[in-house]
Amino acid sequence: MFTFQSINAYHTLLTNGQTTCVEAVRHYLAKVAENSHLNAWLEVFSAEALETAEKLDQQRLQGLPIGKLHGVIVGLKDVICYKDHKISASSRILENFTSVYSATATQRLIDEEAIIIGRQNCDEFAMGSANENSAYGPVKNAIDEERVPGGSSGGSAVAVQSGTCMVSLGSDTGGSVRQPADFCGIIGMKPSYGTISRYGLIAYASSFDQIGIFAKTIEDVDAVLNVVAGPDEFDSTASRKPLNKVNGLHSGKKKYRLCYFSNALEHPSLDPFIASEIRGFIEKLTSEGNEVEGVDFELLNYIVPTYYVLSTAEASSNLSRYDGIKYGYRNPSHKNSLDELYKYSRSDGFGREVKRRILLGTFVLSAGYFDAYFTKAQKVRKLLVEKTKEIFQEYDAIILPTVPTPAYKIGEKKDPIEIFLADIYTVYANLVGIPAISLPLFNTPDGLPFGLQVMTSQHNELSLLTLSKQLIDLQGLQ
Ligand code: GLN
Repeated sequence: MFTFQSINAYHTLLTNGQTTCVEAVRHYLAKVAENSHLNAWLEVFSAEALETAEKLDQQRLQGLPIGKLHGVIVGLKDVICYKDHKISASSRILENFTSVYSATATQRLIDEEAIIIGRQNCDEFAMGSANENSAYGPVKNAIDEERVPGGSSGGSAVAVQSGTCMVSLGSDTGGSVRQPADFCGIIGMKPSYGTISRYGLIAYASSFDQIGIFAKTIEDVDAVLNVVAGPDEFDSTASRKPLNKVNGLHSGKKKYRLCYFSNALEHPSLDPFIASEIRGFIEKLTSEGNEVEGVDFELLNYIVPTYYVLSTAEASSNLSRYDGIKYGYRNPSHKNSLDELYKYSRSDGFGREVKRRILLGTFVLSAGYFDAYFTKAQKVRKLLVEKTKEIFQEYDAIILPTVPTPAYKIGEKKDPIEIFLADIYTVYANLVGIPAISLPLFNTPDGLPFGLQVMTSQHNELSLLTLSKQLIDLQGLQ
């Protein structure tokens, strides 16, 4: 029986001849079939994955050196391009669209011999928090199938959670990797803005979008991050500096200076059990010799509105390219005027939530309201960046809850404002461009997982992962 512990352990089994890539692929294909009711996968590249596995096994047996992700079974959120494979952003408007090139992240996975086994369900154009906005139906949380897995990268989270792939790549514009990781009890990491190239990532809000990683161990997050991160001439917003790997990831017992936002832990929307578990963990950290202080973050209640003004503005502009002409779906019956063709193709092709965001974004960008909303939100974003810099002059990291509540029932939340407000803890890292991770440290008395969110200063992924490892160890989980 094939079992997966970590990429490193898998590589040891492979090089000792105790397993093969073909065995691994067969195992995962069987698991995908067994879990198809969770609706995490939109398409599985079975034949191709087996073929790649055979090729990799042969190369290894011939004694060729193995790539950093040799035989690692990876899933891609349906917003990350893979040349000659379909991609839809879980939208009808991109039905039957095929990628004409691979995302830089995809190409780097392939160059290090990863096996991409399929594309994963998500909220349409990555807009949502529950994976209920996909044109291909909701994804179910494997811990309780009546509950949402979180979103928008719900399929990618559930795929790792249910053991149908080793690691997944998702995207995080306002929490879409960390929030489903929290709901599913796995690790979800969003690097700093610019750490992973956005080339080949379908754009939602370009100044926020970042590819992120789902895995079950910090070492696996680190292994994947080291492969996909780094400068890229196809994305001018990708950081010019290579990822910091000085001394590499190590376990240690460093003493940290940490802070949390006191008003965030007292926020009325926060589930009291989550608040008390996090407070308990803070005490544990303090008793271990770390300094943990509460900071009053006066801008807390401006975070969500600022995010939704700016992200919808960027989305309305990014999504204008889906016009029924250049991409995907075209309404067949409206050929009288170009305007009609646009109107009907976009009306049929986009789902409700995407239309809501386009309307909101168009409104905040419209001539009469631009200064009142868009310009003001940009000013708040700048203040947030400044405040964050001040915080990191004093502290090594910020800790917060990832989400105010554990996973809720499918169909339970209908009010879009209520759903938007639940992004209170995640959108901050995207607004200021810092790296953030959700660690599966806690469970409710009913057995629902929830996470601790940790953030470090920009381009400080290495300390984020090192600290994360220490926190997981402290909770006795790895
Ligand atoms: N829930 C947020 C939104 O709907 C985050 C989405 C994301 O990170 N892609 O905008």
